[in-house]
Amino acid sequence: MHKLTYCLLAILLLSACKTVQDVALTQPILTDKDLTKKTVDVNTIKGHIYYLASDEMAGRDTPSPELNIAGRYLATSLMRYGVKPVEGFDDYFQQVPMKKITPAQAGTISFGAEKLEIGKDFLCLKGGNLDTEAEVVFLERGTAEDFDKVEVAGKIVVVVAGLEGQDNPQQWFFAGADKLKIAKAKGAKGLIELYSSVQLPWNYLVNFLNQPQTIVDDSEVEAFPHIWVNASNVAAITQLKGGNGLTAQVKIDGIKEEILKTYNVVGMVEGTDPVLKDEYIIYSAHYDHVGIGRADERGDTIYNGARDNAVGSVTVLSAAENLAKYPTKRSAIFVFFTGEEKGLLGSAYYANHPAIPLEKVVYCFNSDNGGYNDTSRASIIGLTRTGAQPLIEQACTAFGLKAMEDAAPEQGLFDRSDNVNFAKKGVPAPTFSLGFTSFDEEITKYYHQPGDEPQTLDYVYLTKFFRSYVYACRLIGNTDGSVFWNEGDKYYEAGKALYNKE
Ligand SMILES: [Zn+2]
Repeated sequence: MHKLTYCLLAILLLSACKTVQDVALTQPILTDKDLTKKTVDVNTIKGHIYYLASDEMAGRDTPSPELNIAGRYLATSLMRYGVKPVEGFDDYFQQVPMKKITPAQAGTISFGAEKLEIGKDFLCLKGGNLDTEAEVVFLERGTAEDFDKVEVAGKIVVVVAGLEGQDNPQQWFFAGADKLKIAKAKGAKGLIELYSSVQLPWNYLVNFLNQPQTIVDDSEVEAFPHIWVNASNVAAITQLKGGNGLTAQVKIDGIKEEILKTYNVVGMVEGTDPVLKDEYIIYSAHYDHVGIGRADERGDTIYNGARDNAVGSVTVLSAAENLAKYPTKRSAIFVFFTGEEKGLLGSAYYANHPAIPLEKVVYCFNSDNGGYNDTSRASIIGLTRTGAQPLIEQACTAFGLKAMEDAAPEQGLFDRSDNVNFAKKGVPAPTFSLGFTSFDEEITKYYHQPGDEPQTLDYVYLTKFFRSYVYACRLIGNTDGSVFWNEGDKYYEAGKALYNKE
């Protein structure tokens, strides 16, 4: 090579190095806070919320065509951001099998000279339409020992609801489920429990239970009847209790089942760290609400659910947009649940059928909202229960908010939202919520009301709130520290079992 070329090369190399250095000096490495601000802005948030909580969404009831449209919007948003589908959910949808059960419209239990009428005298807790006749056998409380004393195959088993020492109808439900199992296993034809409670009088019970129910299930309804009989009809009850040799005819009719199509929306972003990317964090929110209902004083019947939970859905969307563009060390899974308002159905289904096994999921950062009455804070239900507390506090402080623990513990919010389905499995799972100091009028004015509409939200506050959430997501996704449950927590042991911790 010519000498001059050498020199030229050397000069070129030097100047190249200088350029790289200059660039490094003028462009400092962006922090997680900077990266948060790069994507989370007020107009994007507004656009999402105004769409999801619009009247056209008809309150996003589960199930409804509008809920599926909202789900499609979330899925295509993930697509647009470059969030990838998880294997097995190639279109970002996880079908959640649900069915709606309309209770029996007609039914009688006849024996001797007695005829009990459905609703007035008895309720069908479980079972399908049927017309059957069988001998009655009374088994006191129906404990396992009681069942061992008498042959019940082919008979209708009559027991007193609940177990000795239980006076709470809620406990009776669970006790009844056990009795039902034994009765079925032993070949009985049905289970009748005699119900009498001062706490929950019969007419309240009927109002509460005798309405359509939506449940996660794709199995066939079994005909096997589980019945509660109002024990106030003394003559009838005496016969049922004494009735060896007594035959009863049970007729149930009008139970209808409708299979529903609803979906969780799921997507993921792979982490950047060769080791930590095998750890996943779930960012989740439910996107359903309660649909159309009773009109308010303005005559509005659409329950828009802007706070509950378009806001939560959009916090997760904001995290998805940000993490797809600037991934964290850990991998991220974004999940939007269906059927929360029907009893946390979508999250329960997801927790039992996770896209990525839960032992690989180190944290679930859920977002759900009833409303707010304090724009100086974010309320994190479960803030003080996991190792992520300082990270969440740091994120909120950075955007001018105070991170506060649940201000209304009497509401039992931790165990009333989707996060609990993960907590029960052992995954540390708090819920990020709009700031509230108590469940006061400012909250109840909007909570599950037609007035919970996009134009009633404070978007200056929301921008801080969304940035705090996304920044916290980044800190949790990148931290070298532990985000596990604090020792002694209600779900600490479940967590140790899930992750095989010592
Ligand atoms: Zn909610």
